[in-house]
Amino acid sequence: MSQTLQDRELAAVIGLEVHVQLETETKIFCNCSTTATENEEPNTRTCPVCLGLPGALPVLNEAAVESAVKIGKALSADIPEETTFHRKNYFYPDLPKGFQLTQYDAPICADGELELRVEGERRSIGIRRAHLEEDPGSLQHEGGNIDTADYTLVNYNRAGTPLMEIVTRPDFRSPAETRAFLAKLEEVLEYLGVFDATRDGSLRVDANISIVAAADVSEGGEISEAVLENANRTEVKNISSHRAAEDALAYEVTRQRNAVQRGRAVEQETRHWDESRGVTVSMRSKEAEKDYRYFREADLPPLQVADWKERIPIPELPDARRERFQAEYDRSEEAASKLTSRKAVADLYEEVAEEFDPGLAATWVADNLLGELNYRDMTVADITARLDEFEELVRLVAEDEVTTKNAEEVILRQMLDDGESPHEVIEAEGLGKASGGEVEQAVTEAIEENPEAVEDYHAGEGGALNFLVGQVMAKTGGSADPGTVNQLLREELAS
Ligand code: ADP
Ligand code: MG
Ligand code: ZN
Repeated sequence: MSQTLQDRELAAVIGLEVHVQLETETKIFCNCSTTATENEEPNTRTCPVCLGLPGALPVLNEAAVESAVKIGKALSADIPEETTFHRKNYFYPDLPKGFQLTQYDAPICADGELELRVEGERRSIGIRRAHLEEDPGSLQHEGGNIDTADYTLVNYNRAGTPLMEIVTRPDFRSPAETRAFLAKLEEVLEYLGVFDATRDGSLRVDANISIVAAADVSEGGEISEAVLENANRTEVKNISSHRAAEDALAYEVTRQRNAVQRGRAVEQETRHWDESRGVTVSMRSKEAEKDYRYFREADLPPLQVADWKERIPIPELPDARRERFQAEYDRSEEAASKLTSRKAVADLYEEVAEEFDPGLAATWVADNLLGELNYRDMTVADITARLDEFEELVRLVAEDEVTTKNAEEVILRQMLDDGESPHEVIEAEGLGKASGGEVEQAVTEAIEENPEAVEDYHAGEGGALNFLVGQVMAKTGGSADPGTVNQLLREELAS
């Protein structure tokens, strides 16, 4: 590329390799648990298989394959008749066998896509492949980081945790698109029930990026294989959040653009995202595929998965559900998006909407409940055992047994803060809505007891009515509707 290229004459090309941890009970090739217990000792969730002891044989976890098939279906990917496993050979202390069991030329998913929206625009990101593999163990650097530690400990508890590596085509044109993609991917994975975003380290991303001449990008955003092949790219590792992906790539776009504009070549290399400093640093020259000496894992026979695709159902996915909510419950696109981005929220909404009213359900689920949960750093997942109580609260509002104001500002909040049921809060706070008779009684009393205010009212003093409303509210313990009280007082005082 010539030295004179201007910023606008350059385009960023980005592709992601996303590792997601699959939510299975046991590891991918043995019976060890995948779930860490609190303060567990290192190297306790291990066995001869995940420690790579001689003679130990892997047995493939069916649940991991099912998860992979679900992901493949959700990404509209091809699932082949037969899929195989390979050994990827390299030495690292967290890899006891000296190779990682992964997939190579016959992955379980190929040629898929994921649709998303970025700044109002519809985009489709191609998925080149997605394959199953095992996670290595983890290293613990004592007394510092990898450069400064006195020594390093190895913990194999994580070794053998099932991962799905999802490799996109280089279809991203900006760091912001990768963030939107990761959010959408997590939504879909969560719907499938194969992934838990709240688990530490459950999402890890390698981001590939190069800079090409804008002229090489077609109107439709396509770039020829030759251009992609020839562009020098870097692979940025150590990205563990959507935000980090966007930040690391933004840094790398600027760094590479600067190099290209000054006529310097971008080194083809692997770089490390240093989150605390907000920079990428060179780690090593990029390894080539041949360096890994991939060969077939002879201890695992080829797996026939042709009929799994039919056999394993997947639920309605967020996009389809959002569109259905718009049509079926007459919600705006924005409201429907909010209601469908988490499956548990969408499920709750549907239950409440069917029983009561779609509008009331939307207010209570999307605005009130999500708002109060968010404020407390909670999600619907934290109250799954109490959804009946929430529905009961909506019923009390729908049937006018409590005021909306009390339900929103007192009952729901105390339910979340103190773990009380709606009826416990109502009882404790005396929030049962006063019956019509009680309110009328209180109105009569307030008028009898406050002749001066009545006189003032008839004399046209504005504050008098408010005073009387206040008296009635006090008598009913705040459980009357102020509008109704106002109305009743006017009628009573007029007669
Ligand atoms: P490798 O064999 O080096 O891992 P792959 O073809 O498997 O390369 O692609 C790895 C990742 O690199 C994919 O996510 C792909 O989209 C991305 N990629 C390929 N070409 C480019 C490019 N020119 N610029 C940025 N990313 C690219
Ligand atoms: Mg690769
Ligand atoms: Zn094991």
